[in-house]
Amino acid sequence: MNFLPLIESKREGKTLAAGQIQEFIREFTAGKIPDYQMAAMLMAIYFRGLDTVETTALTLAMRDSGDVLKFPKDPRPLVDKHSTGGIGDKVSLPLAPLLACLGFRVPMISGRGLGITGGTLDKLDSIPGFKTLLPAKQIVAQVQKVGCVICGQTDTMVPADKKIYALRDASGTVPSIPLITASILSKKLAESLDALILDVKFGCAAFMQTKADARKLAEAMVALGNKCGMNTRAILTDMNTPLSRAAGNWLEVKESVECLEPRSSRRVEALAKKTEDGRRKTEIEMSFLTSVATSNDLLSLVVDCAAHLLVQTKKSKSLTAARKVAEDCLNSGAPRKKWDEMIVAQGADLEAFNRKLRRDSTAKIVVEVKSPKAGYVSKCDARVIGEVIRDLGGGRLTKESAINYDVGVDRMAKPGERVEKSGALCRVHAADEAQAEAAVARLKAAFLVP
Ligand code: URA
Repeated sequence: MNFLPLIESKREGKTLAAGQIQEFIREFTAGKIPDYQMAAMLMAIYFRGLDTVETTALTLAMRDSGDVLKFPKDPRPLVDKHSTGGIGDKVSLPLAPLLACLGFRVPMISGRGLGITGGTLDKLDSIPGFKTLLPAKQIVAQVQKVGCVICGQTDTMVPADKKIYALRDASGTVPSIPLITASILSKKLAESLDALILDVKFGCAAFMQTKADARKLAEAMVALGNKCGMNTRAILTDMNTPLSRAAGNWLEVKESVECLEPRSSRRVEALAKKTEDGRRKTEIEMSFLTSVATSNDLLSLVVDCAAHLLVQTKKSKSLTAARKVAEDCLNSGAPRKKWDEMIVAQGADLEAFNRKLRRDSTAKIVVEVKSPKAGYVSKCDARVIGEVIRDLGGGRLTKESAINYDVGVDRMAKPGERVEKSGALCRVHAADEAQAEAAVARLKAAFLVP
């Protein structure tokens, strides 16, 4: 195909026809369009944007660039959650087994972390024996049998996104709403979902720094998801403060398992009431919630995501009723057992996993960051904490970087909580003393106790 006139059209702000978009995605995936031309098109899209029809065509063309998961007929709806990512955001881990116990099928195709944001697959790689790369046939079989799977994209799923994302990364064209929308939704549509809940983060450690930008992205994704026949909702949640109290791959798995342990749901109900007040519906069936950062923020967000999916699939009539269903299910202990079933199905050595869970830390060095004075924490900066964890070896500077699964930060004091003079603001888990010392110095600046 002659791609140049299309690049020029977009450069001049003209609209591309759906057929033209389908053709260039097909040709690019087949290696018939060079990277430099596609990079130019991506930059033109970055500046000129795509309208709804063009974004829909791009999303569907990307979905159809590879295999779409095919599931047998089953009364259990196919659902998933996607988060735009942040520090300590481990929601997928407890959510998948909870949803399976609520009568859903969950083909959760996840990604790896890059930069300061953690990746679900990296967290799962810290489980002894766990396999994150499964062939499509096994993904479908596990979803049918266990109810949930958390794994990586197969080589044949949405190959266009793999190629385009790498180019966007190298050409400064990642932060474009139509390109992000097409990238995320093409992958979710390839899971053949009935319903999707999106957790769009805003704040200093998020992709979208302001709530207004996060809302724009959420609105674009909700509109397009629904247009493509996948019931889609979004919640907007704060990523100025890390989610929950632990960040770092293994520490997050540990905290996720704790979240699945049955407990009294009284505290979550109180939080749910708070968030419900801030909710408003828009014309595109979208709910906005702002999660409250407390020790229960993880549990609250997991319950919220499950509750939305229960309402979206008409299994519950209201969010209030749905939250109760999700909390009761968590408290029954069934999702904790489902977690074990899921990880064993994916090759985990359960005994080694349980032995690892019982250890306070798997890193060589653990030190406390002490508060210089008594008072109430007013800030726990997610960006600084994410950067420190990445530099401890817990994240990647490039796609090829090796990961240290044991390092991270836990027992974080959250805004509004009291600390005593020399009391712990958090603990650092590091590979050696020098790295621990450097992390402690930087982490002191992440917390504010006025
Ligand atoms: N995550 C994705 O999968 N794609 C994007 O473009 C951004 C975040």
